[in-house]
Amino acid sequence: MKQCPVFKKCGGCQYLNLTYEEQLEKKKKELQRLLKGTCPIHEVIGMENPWHYRNKVHAVFSHDRKGNPISGVYQENSHIVLPVESCLIEDEKADEIIGTIRGMLKSFKIRTYDEDTGYGLLRHVLVKRGFATGEIMVVLVTASPVFPSRNNFVKALRQKHPEITTVIQNINGRDTSMVLGDREQVLYGKGYIEDILCGCRFRISARSFYQVNPVQTEVLYAKAMEYAGLTGKETVIDAYCGIGTIGIVASRRAKQVTGVELNPDAVRDAVRNARANKADNIRFFQGDAGDFLQKMAANGEKADVVFMDPPRSGSTERFMAAAAAMGPERIVYVSCGPDTLARDLKYLRKKGYRVEKGVGVDLFPWTGHVETVALLTRYIV
Ligand code: SAH
Repeated sequence: MKQCPVFKKCGGCQYLNLTYEEQLEKKKKELQRLLKGTCPIHEVIGMENPWHYRNKVHAVFSHDRKGNPISGVYQENSHIVLPVESCLIEDEKADEIIGTIRGMLKSFKIRTYDEDTGYGLLRHVLVKRGFATGEIMVVLVTASPVFPSRNNFVKALRQKHPEITTVIQNINGRDTSMVLGDREQVLYGKGYIEDILCGCRFRISARSFYQVNPVQTEVLYAKAMEYAGLTGKETVIDAYCGIGTIGIVASRRAKQVTGVELNPDAVRDAVRNARANKADNIRFFQGDAGDFLQKMAANGEKADVVFMDPPRSGSTERFMAAAAAMGPERIVYVSCGPDTLARDLKYLRKKGYRVEKGVGVDLFPWTGHVETVALLTRYIV
C-alpha cells in the first residue's frame, strides 16, 4: 500500500487504506446495494495500473503566514488550502509543472490571490494532458486581466517545460467556488489540446468536460458500444454528449447520430471533433437535453438507441419521458452517480423499459466514486 501525507485531510482518496482488490470488491458491493432489485451488477472492472491516472490536475494557489506561495487542494469541506506537491492519482508531469509555477512566482513578483482580502493575482492552475498525444495545456486562472510580465512568465515556463503545447489565461474575478471564469485568452499555442480515444481524435478546450481517466474511459465506451449493439442501420441519440466522444465513436456503426449538450464550449468542440474524424452522419445541438428531446418527441421523431450520460445529479423525468416516447429499442445509461442511476432506472421501468444488466467501471481508483453502464430494453411494443 502507498502512503499519502495528506490522506485524511484532503478527502480525495477515501480508499487509500485498502488494497486495490478490496476496493473493487467494496465498490461492487456498494453498487449492488444501491441497485438491489433494480439492476444486476456482477463486476467492477479495475485498472491494471491504478496510479497517476488523472489527465486533468487542478491546484488552488494561496500563501502561508510568511507570504510564501503554496498550492494544493482545499481541505475537505473548507476553504483552507492544503499544500500538495505530488499526488498518487494525478499525472506526475502535471504536478511537476504546477511545482515549477509555484517556484517561479517570487522572482516574477506574482502574488497569489487572497480570498479574504481580494488582493493578489493567481488563483488556480489547471493542467490537462492528452495521454495518447502527449499534448499539455496549462491554464493560469487570474483574478484580473492585468498580468504583468505575462509574456516573460510564459516564456520562462516553456523553457523549463518544452512539453507544454498551449498556455491559456482564464480570468475569474468573481467571489465564487467555480475554478474557471468566462473570459480567456490564449497566451501560447493553439488554445486546446487533442487526445485519442477508441481510435478517434478529440479536441479538448479549457472549459469543456473530458473524462479524467482516458485508459478506463476506453473500457467504459467499449462496454457502452457492446450494450448498444449497433449494426450500422440505427438512428442514435447521444444525450449529455460533452465534446461528442460517445456519439462520434458510435457514428462509425450507426446510420445517424444526434448529440445534445448544454455547455456551448463543449458543443463547439464536438462539432470540430466530428469534422476531424470525418464523421458526417452526426450533428450536435446546444441546449438542455430534456427540452431538446421533448421537442424531438413532439415532432414525432424516433430513435433506435439512446445513450445518456448525465452529470452526477442524474437525468430528469422530462428527459426520460421524451426519450421513451421516441421508442428506442435500447437505452444505454452511463452514470457517475449510482444513487441517481437507481432513481432514474426505476422511472424508466415505469416508462416501458426493462433493466437488463449493468457493469461498474473503475474510473476513479482510490476514491469513493464509481462509474456504471446499464442497458435497458423496451418491452412495450
Ligand atoms: N458523454 C460525455 C460527457 C459526460 S459528462 C463524455 O463521456 O465525455 C455530462 C455532460 O452533461 C457534461 O458535458 C455537462 O455539460 C452536460 N450537461 C449537464 N446538464 C445538462 C443538461 N441539462 N442538458 C444537456 N447537457 C447537460
